[in-house]
This record gives sequence, C-alpha cells and structure tokens, in this order.
Amino acid sequence: MRRGFKTEANAIAREVRGELSLSRAAPLDVWRLANHLDIQVVPLSSLHAEAPRAVQLFMNGGEGIFSGVTVFWGHQRTIVFNDAHAPGRQASDIGHELSHGLLLHTPTMAADELGCRLWKRDVEDEAAWLSGSLLVPEEVALLIVRRGWSLSEAAASYGVTESMIRFRINVTGARNRVQRMRVK
Ligand SMILES: [Zn+2]
Repeated sequence: MRRGFKTEANAIAREVRGELSLSRAAPLDVWRLANHLDIQVVPLSSLHAEAPRAVQLFMNGGEGIFSGVTVFWGHQRTIVFNDAHAPGRQASDIGHELSHGLLLHTPTMAADELGCRLWKRDVEDEAAWLSGSLLVPEEVALLIVRRGWSLSEAAASYGVTESMIRFRINVTGARNRVQRMRVK
C-alpha cells in the first residue's frame, strides 16, 4: 500500500460518517452508504432468470468462489454481490466494492483466462483496507476492547464477521492501546 494511504482511509471513513450523520462509533449500514453514493446494489440471486446455471454455481460455491463485483455502465457503477453469504460477510463484500467507488478505482483492462476484468493488487489492498476502516473504525476497535466484548458480540453489534473484528483489533493495536490507557 502506498505511503499515507491508511491515514487517508481514516479521513475518508470519517468524512463518510459525517455525510451519513453517524457518530464515530455507530454501526455503518452498507446499503445506506450505497444509496448515498448512488450505487445500485443487486443480489446475485435476482439474476437467476438471466443466467440460471452461472448463478447456481456461484451461489452454491461456498465462501471462496464469488463475493462481489462492480459492473460499469459508462461511469455508473452497479454492485452485484453474493446473497448466499452470511449477512456479516455480505457487509464486507459490499463495503469492499463501495470502497473501490469511494477511491474512484476504475477496472484495469487486464483480463484473466475467463475473461473477467481484474483489479490490480494495490487497488485491491486499498479497497480491503478502506472497507475495514468504514465498518470497524479505530474508535470502534478501541471501544470493543475497552468494553471487553467477545468477537461474536462485537460482530453482531456491527453487522460484520468475527474475522473482520479480529483483524481490525489487531491492525489498530487496540489491545495495547487500551492497556496503556488503563495503566496511566
Ligand atoms: Zn476488489
């Protein structure tokens, strides 16, 4: 990730919360954010009539096979996400695609062997990082540790996966920071 990006991501996350009139520690609803950004979000299952076999394959393929994708019509973005995933995972998937939008990422023209457009690695890392900052900002990671919530309690409160909570607590150094505050 390029230098300064994490600070930039925190700033974007705060700005977005401001625009949605959310406090720094409130759960963020990705559907509301999509609406605010005027990005349409379409569940994969709704495309069943058009492509029954493909949709069936992706929906029954488990966690790894298809999460979400941004489709472009000119400059208009539409997100297709896998609604067979658990709701917490859907939030990450949609948050990730919305982050590409917030960062104004455009798809590269490179294609893999199936003809899919591919995002570049650094662009992927940025979207993943921003998505985490949006869904579980630093303030929330600190709050979870301070209140001694379990991963599952925190995940339920914020509508995300336990692994997202764990990841954000780790990368923000929340445990050490809370401990230092207690020692003072
Ligand atoms: Zn991506």
